[in-house]
Amino acid sequence: MPRVFLLTLGCPKNTVASRRLGENLLRAGLELTDNPDDADALVVNTCGFIEAAADESIETLLELVQVKARGGQRLVAVGCLAERYGDELAVALPELDICVGLDHAEELPRLLGASETTAQKSKVAVGPSAYLELTNGCDHGCSFCTIPGMHGPFRSRPLSDIRDEAVALVQGGARELVLVGQETGAYGTDLSPATDLAGLLGALPDESGLSWLRVLYLQWYHVNERLLETVAADPRICNYLDIPVQHASPAIVKAMNRRGDAVKYLQRLDSVRNYLPEAALRTSLIVGFPGETDDDILELADFLREARFDYAGVFEFSAEEGTPAADLPDQIDAEDKRERADQIRLLADEIGHEALTRRLDRSVNGLGEEVNGDLGIGRAWFQAPEVDGLVQFKGAGSCHSGDFIEVEVTKVDGYDITGNIIA
Ligand code: SF4
Repeated sequence: MPRVFLLTLGCPKNTVASRRLGENLLRAGLELTDNPDDADALVVNTCGFIEAAADESIETLLELVQVKARGGQRLVAVGCLAERYGDELAVALPELDICVGLDHAEELPRLLGASETTAQKSKVAVGPSAYLELTNGCDHGCSFCTIPGMHGPFRSRPLSDIRDEAVALVQGGARELVLVGQETGAYGTDLSPATDLAGLLGALPDESGLSWLRVLYLQWYHVNERLLETVAADPRICNYLDIPVQHASPAIVKAMNRRGDAVKYLQRLDSVRNYLPEAALRTSLIVGFPGETDDDILELADFLREARFDYAGVFEFSAEEGTPAADLPDQIDAEDKRERADQIRLLADEIGHEALTRRLDRSVNGLGEEVNGDLGIGRAWFQAPEVDGLVQFKGAGSCHSGDFIEVEVTKVDGYDITGNIIA
């Protein structure tokens, strides 16, 4: 049977899509391999969210063109970039054999040579942590964003599908489920009967082994008292909230076609800290938006000093073709964007480092992910996968990947921490 090398780029939602794609391939009787030279097909799940991600996808495809030149494998692009620029990709990369958006990826097993008779039941292996998709698409139309154009209107997955997938992931070895979607906080508002994120969290099964639930991508106005009460009352839900605000200056927030300003965000963060005094908070920010002035940057910096986020992803505005913001006047030149991003990133890192230093000499609950002799690597409850740093721990002798541990923090280095296992 054909063997497939499947490579995933981009965000956690793409990781979820690749897991589903991998399961479809296995179910259709194909095999997965980690070695591109050993494969019959090279499949890249691309990202086209912003120009830099698209460039990375194209570079990856070009590297695999070299592999194809050696081994004659079929080269396949799926995912956001294939969806957004499929025709252009096919022209620019004649070596590409198949180029389909994820909405058509269910055809891929057949296109790669699977036959009905080879179908088998199989699962892609999951590690101690797995992403679980709650929603897809978005109705908001932030002026810089390509997602509504690529993924269509907001849709919640049926609660029963999410429950079934949660059970399967935990039975497959996941100890942490990271709940993702373009708008997790709006979960359920389009279902009949309608529900909400708090309702979903309460309905997730108490599957043996599941110890952490973590929610990413919440809009600040969805972080309401009902949700905070639910997080505070359920020990499985990490006291960790990811609330991307993108900017704090009212003029820029308005030009982004978003809601809110620094005052409203700070009121909501106060309420979070009232319910969850130890909460770890993440946000993401875009600087260099068209028309942004030095005063707007000062306003953003003042907001960050008051908000005290534990983590902030700082991105330079990227004018994406087809978005309203790409056509706005007063675009900021590249050097100014870089300088502003550096300035805001430095401040966010100072604040984040100070927050992490407060964890020194304290015991924190963590999830072991890799163990090598007496040394282990994992994450504390306040560290989301891939973005927030790691915990390195000594005394891992009897520990296994997927075990929960208590670590006394002895050192903080950037966003990583080191400690000793105490239980
Ligand atoms: S809410 Fe998020 S996904 Fe939706 S348009 Fe805005 S940035 Fe894009």
